[in-house]
Amino acid sequence: MTSEEKFKKVVSHAKEYGFVFQSSEIYDGLSAVYDYGQNGTELKNNIKDYWWKAMVQLNDNIVGIDSSILMHPTIWKASGHVDAFNDPLIDNKDSKKRYRADVLIEDFIAKTESKVKKEILKAKKKFGDKFDKQQFLETNNRVVHYQNKIKSIHNDFSKALENDDLIGMKKIIDDLEIACPVSGSKNWTEIKQFNLMFGTKLGASSESAMDLYLRPETAQGIFVNFLNVQKTGRLKIPFGIAQIGKAFRNEIVARQFIFRMREFEQMEMQFFIKPGTQKEWYIKWKEDRMKWHLSLGLGKENYRFHDHEKLAHYADAACDIEFNFPFGFKELEGIHSRTDFDLSNHEKFSSKKLKYFDSNDNESYIPYVLETSIGVDRMFLAVFSNSLCDEKLEDGSSRTVLKLPAILAPVKATILPLLKKDGLPEIAKGLVEKLKTEYRVSYDEKDAIGRRYRRQDALGTPFCITIDHQSKEDNTFTLRERDSMIQERLNFDELLKKIDSAVSIKSWI
Ligand code: ATP
Repeated sequence: MTSEEKFKKVVSHAKEYGFVFQSSEIYDGLSAVYDYGQNGTELKNNIKDYWWKAMVQLNDNIVGIDSSILMHPTIWKASGHVDAFNDPLIDNKDSKKRYRADVLIEDFIAKTESKVKKEILKAKKKFGDKFDKQQFLETNNRVVHYQNKIKSIHNDFSKALENDDLIGMKKIIDDLEIACPVSGSKNWTEIKQFNLMFGTKLGASSESAMDLYLRPETAQGIFVNFLNVQKTGRLKIPFGIAQIGKAFRNEIVARQFIFRMREFEQMEMQFFIKPGTQKEWYIKWKEDRMKWHLSLGLGKENYRFHDHEKLAHYADAACDIEFNFPFGFKELEGIHSRTDFDLSNHEKFSSKKLKYFDSNDNESYIPYVLETSIGVDRMFLAVFSNSLCDEKLEDGSSRTVLKLPAILAPVKATILPLLKKDGLPEIAKGLVEKLKTEYRVSYDEKDAIGRRYRRQDALGTPFCITIDHQSKEDNTFTLRERDSMIQERLNFDELLKKIDSAVSIKSWI
């Protein structure tokens, strides 16, 4: 299956099984806005819960808040978003399609990199055991040409980014003869900066209404509450404030399903530290966040760090944790050393003191901040796409199975009476009643047992519990495990123990 086919399968599976729907679908949809269905909502809630527990519950010095989406407009002046939260956009005059100029260049680099990879694969096949990759990279004319080209584009691109040089960026697009993916035309407009914030109005009459923005990140709600939380919680530096909430960005190129949405959710944590200690905390949070990702077992090879070439207006160090999505490695989470940029500016713009008194060192200062910021929806896509697979079985048949980490699965176990008679449904429903206060469970009595198993495989349910005639006699049940498909006969206590150890946070973090 090509990666494009795999991605299509992810999108259609998400819809077919009630995970993600296009928003306003009956009105032909709203571009880059999505709704989560009955199973998607459970999976999303479990992701948020797993993050919240790891950050807030398991860290003595991190607390959580829930700030509002609408905030005083001056906040976005102070944070730099009004002036600097821009993307460089370019239009193709023939197709009338709009693109992010930086993304066009990045895509071109990625395409050239994949040409190098293809050449390597071809040569590997040709030369077999004798293949020397290093020598090939250094001597094959075509590969050397591609590599030099990549290096030179990187060079020009970083310079243009650093200097906000839109003319330089346009020159790269022209020189590389990058064409519009839709029309194939190279007839481009100049590049313009485009602010990503959504505006809205507060107030009844149009004259007195106040211009507001829908927040483009949740972080500012944490900064403006920094002293409220610190004082009322009597928190001492270092400490963190975490938050999960909606953010809005008027993305220019909103494609790739829930990877880039206009309304999305973030899980952010701002960690307040003493100035000068940011380097060590940056390293620590990079390690901690990677550990969290790896704990879910999606495969170490699917993650990598990417250091930012151009630092955002607020950062003195920044990197992304990238994940191997069906369309390649892309940003999943950002880790940013935000200095005292935000708090200092809020102090300036609000004229309120935001200093912290450090009783250990007997001094006052504006703390520095280390931020971890991950998109819930991107995390959802990472988990969902990584878990979805087609398997050939020994008997020649095949199955589609969503191998979600059990702790994130929407439904932990489904209870299936083998037959719709002989008192088996009653026993099954009794078991549902006993289990449902502990876990999210479901009940299914429709269709043959094999088809019911397949349905649960496709939903990612880790366990199926089957009630048969023997259950009536000795109170035992058959537990079928989703990934191995192994079935075992267990009594109620054994069943509980098995499910518990599979879905308990202790087994994961
Ligand atoms: P990108 O470079 O992909 O636009 P970003 O660097 O602007 O992302 P941040 O501002 O660092 O992203 O936001 C933190 C996290 O929020 C990202 O790592 C991502 O997981 C998530 N995120 C950002 N923009 C979107 C979006 N439009 N849709 C879904 N998730 C998003």
